[in-house]
Amino acid sequence: MTRDEILRWLTETDVARLEELWTLADAARKQHVGDAVHLRGLIEISNHCARQCGYCGIRAPHTGVKRYRLSADEIWGCVERAVEYGYGTVVMQSGEDWGIRAHWLAALIRRIKTETELAVTLSLGERHADELALWRAAGADRYLLRFETSDAELYGRIHPGTDGQPGRLDDRLARLRVLKELGYEAGSGVMIGIPGQSYQSLAADIALFRELDLDMIGVGPYLAHPATPIGRGEWVQPLADGEQVPATELMGYKVLALTRLVCPEANLPSTTALATLNYESGRELGLMRGANVIMPNLTPPEYRCLYEIYPAKACLQESEEDFHQAIRRRIESVGRTVGTGPGGRLTVKG
Ligand code: SAH
Repeated sequence: MTRDEILRWLTETDVARLEELWTLADAARKQHVGDAVHLRGLIEISNHCARQCGYCGIRAPHTGVKRYRLSADEIWGCVERAVEYGYGTVVMQSGEDWGIRAHWLAALIRRIKTETELAVTLSLGERHADELALWRAAGADRYLLRFETSDAELYGRIHPGTDGQPGRLDDRLARLRVLKELGYEAGSGVMIGIPGQSYQSLAADIALFRELDLDMIGVGPYLAHPATPIGRGEWVQPLADGEQVPATELMGYKVLALTRLVCPEANLPSTTALATLNYESGRELGLMRGANVIMPNLTPPEYRCLYEIYPAKACLQESEEDFHQAIRRRIESVGRTVGTGPGGRLTVKG
């Protein structure tokens, strides 16, 4: 699929033609990754963050949020529930928290890999290459680091760097290369409809997914957080009507479906951001339009609402037990099966 074709689908409004896109994406999903939906238990291990990303509710300057960091015992409790529920993977995510010491985490990863069959995914921001290497040696399998937008100018405007200069897209892309060199399965992705994002730049994001040959890709609509500069309408202005990508549920499905078509073998989650916009059926619709992964939240309930990267995150409402029961039913209701085992990338790359 060419960049122009991607662009045409992104701006398509005809409902019947869009049905064609969903059908194509669903067929590619079935052919390349099958009917299994892999469950990855998400553990939000810390909401401390050194960064100032203009859209994110746990950014360092946001003083209105109570900060927490889970203890090794608390994380272990989550790991045990992942095993009990039959999940194949745990994902440890946090703000960019330098209080998470590299050796401390390495010991925890080693324990998970020794005492369970779980795959371990990390999503901890731009940590140093030697730390990434240490965690990989301890057994970590995968790492998620979204590049957020492939438009370097927009990237710089929404991500202040640590040196007072605009953040650099190249630094993120370089980290992704390091992750691959270390032998991690590498995941990335973008937000859809961030102010200043044009259709052209979103089409370029999707083309970049293919170029980077990613193993996992997470895409979800941008959700404005009122305690952030971008959420308040500062820093970047939306483009003119017809140019600005809307941060809608429909755009979420279009990007998901196109991502499946350009990266047919990748593992694609039906993201929490989609479920937040459509609590009733966002997850199922994602599964029917390209996704093959769901990430149930295992963070202890007393911390969950503190990991508020955007407001009203889905699954703050319900107990983990209820969610666990419901998710199996939901997966089966759309004719799919619950995946078993770690659910890594299927094809061995040359
Ligand atoms: N600190 C880690 C994890 C960030 S949270 C890192 O930087 O990689 C995971 C993802 O949530 C981010 O990559 C971003 O794409 C998404 N996110 C953050 N704020 C958001 C918002 N307001 N709306 C939608 N998605 C958001």
